[in-house]
Amino acid sequence: MQLETLRQSLLATGARDCHVDRVLRAWTQGKPLDAGPRSQPAEHYLPLALRNALAALDAQLSGLARMRSEHPGDDGSSRLLVDLADGQMAECVLLPRDGVCVSTQIGCAVGCTFCMTGRDGLLRQVSSGEMVAQVVLARHLRTVRRVVFMGMGEPSHNIDNVLEAIDLLGTAGAIGHKNLVFSTVGDRRVFERLPQERVKPALAISLHTTRADLRAELLPKASRIDPAELVELAEHYARTTGYPIQYQWTLIDGVNDSEAEMDGIVRLLTGKYAIMNLIPYNTTAALSYRRPPLERVTALAHYLHARGIRTTVRNSAGQDVDGGCGQLRARSLDPEASPTSRKVMLKQLKAGVR
Ligand code: SAH
Ligand code: SF4
Repeated sequence: MQLETLRQSLLATGARDCHVDRVLRAWTQGKPLDAGPRSQPAEHYLPLALRNALAALDAQLSGLARMRSEHPGDDGSSRLLVDLADGQMAECVLLPRDGVCVSTQIGCAVGCTFCMTGRDGLLRQVSSGEMVAQVVLARHLRTVRRVVFMGMGEPSHNIDNVLEAIDLLGTAGAIGHKNLVFSTVGDRRVFERLPQERVKPALAISLHTTRADLRAELLPKASRIDPAELVELAEHYARTTGYPIQYQWTLIDGVNDSEAEMDGIVRLLTGKYAIMNLIPYNTTAALSYRRPPLERVTALAHYLHARGIRTTVRNSAGQDVDGGCGQLRARSLDPEASPTSRKVMLKQLKAGVR
């Protein structure tokens, strides 16, 4: 269900915009649909026709994303397998520190050679209603202050729906705009559309290599934007929004963990408003890629840090629970990892992998 369709069907009961907004606010915040001012009964603030429609609406909205199973990890994250109304299954991860990672597509057409989601291509788009419903499901379980669009799928390939969900979450859903994170391999549509939005999300760019040839190999169907240009486009967005770009670099042993690659990062990111997140590859039985040894990961982080690149090392959330649907790609983008919190990053570096 698209959010616009939902809004129109509520307006069709004769309700006014302010009433519809109230219901959407209640839903996105994980409250009963008729929630309103605590001291007043619903008949004081919602018209009868709308109140009469709420039971059916509630059933419909609950059906958008139902929990199939929960797999708690020992790092405070918990992976949810979620049933959608047509029987498809999406992955959604509760992250430590009040975050949730949602899926934007079932499957993915980019076909990154190291990612399990890309293996079967794109099965279908996830609707804007289904994205918000994943957040609502999470809000029934925990406090949610941060939503990262980093689950299954490539958000730029479903950009209308993703931006519609972001808009509702950043308004009625009361999530801070920089706590909505759009994670992408990079696509010109992203740089055209995001700056025009009233809710401008933070941007995470999955870079993985600074070599255009290797990038084309590893991310076969990603837009062919040269890494240097990608960084320039992203930098412009960071300056527009006032929040840094979170670069993601899935570190794969012998593939993109060389000193030459690190020098490439230094060349591209020096002076940029950016944070480099090194993510040791989460090994999956089905693929032959491996993560580099821990000492190497730590050494690379130090190497970048010593050259002035803000760097964090992070593990996929809930790595210990990667049973079930076969992969886990949730990232814990730490809201504290802002450029000002050097102390936090130094602590992370000292601790090695978090
Ligand atoms: N399509 C978007 C968002 C979903 S993938 C994107 O690529 O950014 C989110 C992140 O998970 C990407 O950075 C991807 O490189 C990473 N990822 C995928 N499989 C992984 C694995 N097995 N181990 C570690 N990171 C992985
Ligand atoms: Fe798609 Fe992201 Fe996986 Fe690449 S890493 S196949 S873009 S979900």
